[in-house]
Amino acid sequence: ASWEKQVRHSSTPRRPNGFSILVTGASGFVGSHCALALKKRGDGVLGLDNFNTYYDPTLKRARQGLLGKHQIFVVEADLNDVDVLRKLFDVVPFTHVLHLAAQAGVRYAMENPMSYVSSNIAGFVNLLEIAKAADPQPAIVWASSSSVYGLNTENPFSETHRTDQPASLYAATKKAGEEIAHTYNHIYGLSITGLRFFTVYGPWGRPDMAYFFFTKDILQGKSINIYQTADEKEVARDFTYIDDIVKGCIGALDTAEKSTGKAGKKRAPAQLRIYNLGNTAPVSVGKLVSILESLLNVKAKKHVIKMPRNGDVPYTHANVSLAYNDFGYKPTTDLASGLRKFVRWYVGYYGIESRVNKEEGKVQD
Ligand code: NAD
Repeated sequence: ASWEKQVRHSSTPRRPNGFSILVTGASGFVGSHCALALKKRGDGVLGLDNFNTYYDPTLKRARQGLLGKHQIFVVEADLNDVDVLRKLFDVVPFTHVLHLAAQAGVRYAMENPMSYVSSNIAGFVNLLEIAKAADPQPAIVWASSSSVYGLNTENPFSETHRTDQPASLYAATKKAGEEIAHTYNHIYGLSITGLRFFTVYGPWGRPDMAYFFFTKDILQGKSINIYQTADEKEVARDFTYIDDIVKGCIGALDTAEKSTGKAGKKRAPAQLRIYNLGNTAPVSVGKLVSILESLLNVKAKKHVIKMPRNGDVPYTHANVSLAYNDFGYKPTTDLASGLRKFVRWYVGYYGIESRVNKEEGKVQD
């Protein structure tokens, strides 16, 4: 069938010993950037995404279009679709899975709890079940989240710190993913690596994230809410630029051990690995807004609310020495440089560059 042909073509590596990688969440923010970078260096990349409407799916369709131009086919299916997943693994001997599909967002969970359970727990288990039965068994690298540190106050966060106080259902499902990964590694010898991303931002980012809707609201002259913790401390995040995260994902794929097959065989099981991928330089939300104001050359209407939002943690800060030691991960983009690239993309994509230039002054370099 032509579907099969496209799937095979997409996932065939073009470099010697190249990987054949299934990227889940390939039409999303991090997934689309990773898929393109992997393809560019000659790996075979097949995408999977359900194109859900959690945020504006026209962004996902635009990414699918670009991926298509680079011969990356995106299968439109849900992680929970056993038949489709099984068929993909029957057709393609994937060496790796980069699993980035998930229900993201912290506050959406208050209204839609089961969407987190379905994608982040059931969907993950479904993928692991199929990976464990596949021949060869692929190595799996997947996105956990800095949110697993929850209300922890020991800073910066190291992988050995406690993660037993998730502040949102999203965080709890990411933490559950880590426990589930441990089990599949232990019983079935699946090679699994979890990456705790810290607030990723950049071009083609998620419209539900603060830097994105602040940009939109500032440009539209709407007021923005800045939350402070109950003790009036500023909320701060270890904002990490997308290109640094892509390098981290590729580093983790390149150093992933091979899966060792079912338990009972004599080989030692591959190790479960968990890494922080952050920027190691937390920035307050107030500072984020002032950087945006200067890039957009517009004064924001700020509304400070002295109350934490449910599900948000006050502060995140990554220690990345483990990822540095194991695969040379070193973030190189500071927030001002990364936001400049984001703002350039934003005004270009939404076609408002001329308005910004004319009415509010030039987008500064
Ligand atoms: P995203 O929402 O842009 O991408 C996720 C993609 O997965 C979307 O395109 C969505 O349609 C797809 N998807 C969701 N559920 C699915 C399902 N059940 N079956 C198939 N496809 C499904 O989010 P992102 O920011 O690119 O995040 C990628 C990963 O990184 C996620 O696992 C997220 O939890 C994690 N993460 C992101 C951040 C961040 O700041 N962006 C921080 C920590 C962790």
